[in-house]
Amino acid sequence: MAKRLYYKYSDYLKEKYNKKVYKIPVNINTTCPNRDGNIGSGGCIFCGEEGAGFELLDKNNSIKKQIKKNKEFIIKKYKAEKFIIYFQNYTNTYLKLEIFKDYILECIDEDVVEISISTRPDCISEDILSFLKDIEIKYSINISFELGLQTCNYKTLKRLNRGHTLAEYIHGVNKIKKYNFELCTHMILNLPWDDKDDVIEGAKILSSLEINTVKIHSLYILKNTLLGNMYEKNEIEIIHKDEYIKRMILFLEYLDPNIGIQRLFSRAPKERTLFCNWDTSWWKLKDQLIELMKEKETYQGKKFQYLKPRITRNI
Ligand code: SF4
Repeated sequence: MAKRLYYKYSDYLKEKYNKKVYKIPVNINTTCPNRDGNIGSGGCIFCGEEGAGFELLDKNNSIKKQIKKNKEFIIKKYKAEKFIIYFQNYTNTYLKLEIFKDYILECIDEDVVEISISTRPDCISEDILSFLKDIEIKYSINISFELGLQTCNYKTLKRLNRGHTLAEYIHGVNKIKKYNFELCTHMILNLPWDDKDDVIEGAKILSSLEINTVKIHSLYILKNTLLGNMYEKNEIEIIHKDEYIKRMILFLEYLDPNIGIQRLFSRAPKERTLFCNWDTSWWKLKDQLIELMKEKETYQGKKFQYLKPRITRNI
């Protein structure tokens, strides 16, 4: 049987739930400790004022209202049967515990199979984890987390002003895994200070930590950000599109084939960016990636055998 090129998230969900499952993003009243001075100020150098949620509904609407509105649209368009409620923007565990609990309880419904929470590795308390475990058991709703790592290069993490290092990310993963929750990690493969070895090492680290899914981002540069200023002053260089596609292939080759790919390329509104996807649509980039993978006869996990102990590999 031919190897699959990469493990699509839609297949991952089909195998897990055996139903048409769609994500519903919700927007809550929170911020980020890396923006408000608690851990850092100004945030990551690529992060815009609105965080990452370009398609989100107004956070002043209740969660129930946001879910209802999105559900109507998704059921009509995709005939979805079950839903994942996705707390997407900023740091969704950076809240008083009682407020966080209320938000989670508001999501619970018969057709909700999972609640996915995007946060930072330094904002995951035992109180939150044990509350979520109770929810999982009581309502049979899976809990998953999303953490941004972006790169495994700790020097680049510093330049990005992430406010955490690789060690804290690993610590966060271990905490989440202890409760048996699933985990997605975000990676950017064309950060100006990284090279292909960083990308390979990133794939190896995520594989060795046995994360469940990954969102791959092509770096986009938002207006009015520190990264935007650097770009306008020609202080940074973005690699060529063809080079980027080659890096993506390397990343996929070294990634555990059982890790689902939630995203291959970033999407950002043109009017908000100084640079995004080499002015090419993301589906054209995807076509280019697939074509090259087929030409090279390669696939996700082709070079994954590094986790097998060398000494026993050929026995
Ligand atoms: S941690 Fe996330 S929300 Fe906070 S500044 Fe960085 S990218 Fe923005």
